[in-house]
Amino acid sequence: MNIHEYQAKALLKGYGAPVAEGVAILKAEEAEAAAKSLPGPLYVVKSQIHAGGRGKGKFKELGPDAKGGVRLAFSIEEAKAHAKEMLGNTLVTAQTGEAGKQVNRLYIEDGADIARELYCSLLVDRSVGRVAFVVSTEGGMDIEAVAHDTPEKIQTIAIDPEAGVTAADIASISKALELDGAAGEDAKSLFPLLYKAFNEKDMALLEINPLIVMKNGHLRVLDAKMSFDGNALFRHDDVKALRDETEEDAKEIEASKWDLAYVALDGNIGCMVNGAGLAMATMDIIKLYGKEPANFCDVGGGAGKEKVAAAFKIITADPKVEGILVNIFGGIMRCDVIAEGVVAAVQEVGLKVPLVVRLEGTNVELGKKILNESGLAITAADDLDDAAKKIVAAIEA
Ligand code: GDP
Ligand code: MG
Repeated sequence: MNIHEYQAKALLKGYGAPVAEGVAILKAEEAEAAAKSLPGPLYVVKSQIHAGGRGKGKFKELGPDAKGGVRLAFSIEEAKAHAKEMLGNTLVTAQTGEAGKQVNRLYIEDGADIARELYCSLLVDRSVGRVAFVVSTEGGMDIEAVAHDTPEKIQTIAIDPEAGVTAADIASISKALELDGAAGEDAKSLFPLLYKAFNEKDMALLEINPLIVMKNGHLRVLDAKMSFDGNALFRHDDVKALRDETEEDAKEIEASKWDLAYVALDGNIGCMVNGAGLAMATMDIIKLYGKEPANFCDVGGGAGKEKVAAAFKIITADPKVEGILVNIFGGIMRCDVIAEGVVAAVQEVGLKVPLVVRLEGTNVELGKKILNESGLAITAADDLDDAAKKIVAAIEA
């Protein structure tokens, strides 16, 4: 789960991180009061969307010459004008895809005088089984380009979970970022507190790009992208409360309510499966026969009829779906439960596209009987190969 920059900064501030003062607003009329509450004379008006690259992004409605999604303002009047122009419009960045994201909130922040822009992120480094700092002096810009063109400018410092962030770790990170003077002093508290926040809140990623050295020599967290491990959210009600559902795919939200793993893709065959391995195999075989999956919904092990019906409805709600392939291996899951769920969902929402069902495993005969006797236009398949051929043929027909 991702949160907005202003929320991430508030969370980090709670741990003692140096962040600017700022106010989040939902309406342009709130911009004046927000800016007035800040020290000035420099303000930054920042689009709050769950995507990076906002500074270089473009608003669809404003044309190519308009300013981007992060704007400096040198007066309260200018901050107001930016807010008015930005709110409600669609920002397209390198991370949003062509459709872009509507900007429904802004964060108005006290502007900083920047001397250097650095990169600092924390992530779970699976190769060493540790949380690691990934740092570079080349912050503020596209870190992917730095990784590609000059990988030697990115350094990884993995942290021993027993020892935590040691003085030696701080020295390594500071050296990599060429920090000295006041910034070097700030580093002694900043890096340990980032590590503490990352662990305590079960983050999956904390990316500060840029972490800046200000002209006064001190460090400041200028941007913050934070995402949390979904499997640990149950123990963080405070984090869950930060969820902004308007930023998420409506179908993925519905799926998460039912504890279904739903992933939207670009093709036109909807897939209902159980188990991640079977999901991958199903997508592979669809591609082998020349088509692309529109999505997959993993109903998992012990789903009941209602959950299966919910999964089916989520899959069919996608207008891209021209055909559906249900591919279930009933191990813990029973084939008759799947069949009942599919029949119930089809009876409720109708069936506008071809449906191919391949069932195997526990109670398979009963499952097939339920499907056959339903009177619905369902094509039965014998195995994975047969199923993929049949759904591809049905779409092309
Ligand atoms: P992103 O484009 O979505 O990554 O948004 P950022 O928060 O990283 O802002 C983009 C860029 O705007 C930064 O790299 C800075 O160059 C600039 N910027 C953001 N805040 C300030 C500020 O307070 N002062 C100045 N001078 N520039 C800023
Ligand atoms: Mg940034």
